[in-house]
Amino acid sequence: METKHSLRLSGVIGDSIVDGKGIRMTVFVQGCPHHCPGCHNPQTHDFSGGYEDTVERLIQKFKEDPLQCGVTLSGGEPFCQAEALSVLASEVKALGKNVWVYSGYTFEELVSGTILFARELLSYCDVLVDGRFLMEQRNLTLPFRGSENQRLIDVQASLEQNKPVLYTL
Ligand code: SF4
Repeated sequence: METKHSLRLSGVIGDSIVDGKGIRMTVFVQGCPHHCPGCHNPQTHDFSGGYEDTVERLIQKFKEDPLQCGVTLSGGEPFCQAEALSVLASEVKALGKNVWVYSGYTFEELVSGTILFARELLSYCDVLVDGRFLMEQRNLTLPFRGSENQRLIDVQASLEQNKPVLYTL
């Protein structure tokens, strides 16, 4: 890789078991336009907060722990940094690992063509947890999501069929 792809991040944690199936590295991006009431990560909303890091350094960090089965992109809103995250996700896939992504946008919004590089990023993702967090639909018993409206989506099947296909755990 010659170009450095920079990202604005809120934090990164390794060995997470709550942000998708298996042991994962979770990348929390900085900046979110949705402002869902009751959001668990309000510190990630400000687009000028957080710190800068590069895709290249994140891949290096991910490789240091081979027990991790994939990377989860969370936030913040990952699709506000879809171009650089596409590079990260493609590198993760090239290592034979999987990619989960959380977004306040729905699958339908992401494939509508209005969000730059959204389809590019989706093309490297296995599972999308989609939709804004809705306090009135909050359910603490749901695996890997916070409210009933959010869906676990099998991204590749959904892109192929051009409609959301649910992912089964
Ligand atoms: S989309 Fe996620 S990070 Fe953004 S406000 Fe909603 S719950 Fe918070």
